[in-house]
Amino acid sequence: MELIIQGIPEEFCLACKGCCRFSQPQSVWIPRLLQEEVPVLQKINIILLPNQTTEYYCEFLDTTTNQCRIYKQRPFDCQLYPFVLLGKDNKVFLAVDPQCLFVQQFGGRLEFEAFSRQLLHYLNTRLLKEIIRRNPQVVQDYPNVKVIGEIIF
Ligand code: SF4
Repeated sequence: MELIIQGIPEEFCLACKGCCRFSQPQSVWIPRLLQEEVPVLQKINIILLPNQTTEYYCEFLDTTTNQCRIYKQRPFDCQLYPFVLLGKDNKVFLAVDPQCLFVQQFGGRLEFEAFSRQLLHYLNTRLLKEIIRRNPQVVQDYPNVKVIGEIIF
């Protein structure tokens, strides 16, 4: 179920070895499934990279091409990234991960700010708020993210 339009150009994502890889098998950055995604995807298994002791990756990542093998059906959490839903002080915020290469290069531009505001507006619509309300597991305490604005319930 595609809910979020991808705002980051594909070439950035394919050149980056950040997304879909994790330093720990319990990382906060591992996508959480929406209730409605569970019947389709069941669960996201995290696998230790062969010959590595500290790098894990999502079972759906093709590590040779760096592409998601279920791109059209990837979870809402993955569609949203480099944006995340940050839980803080019993509130929910849209935030962005400054580690994303695209955000590092273009995060300060007016176009990016306009896109971020549009996304915040969309997440504040009744449909999206209902999905977030039903799925508190997608709201997490992400470290070192930049807050865009609040999702008001
Ligand atoms: S489902 Fe796809 S986009 Fe999401 S973490 Fe796994 S490989 Fe990456």
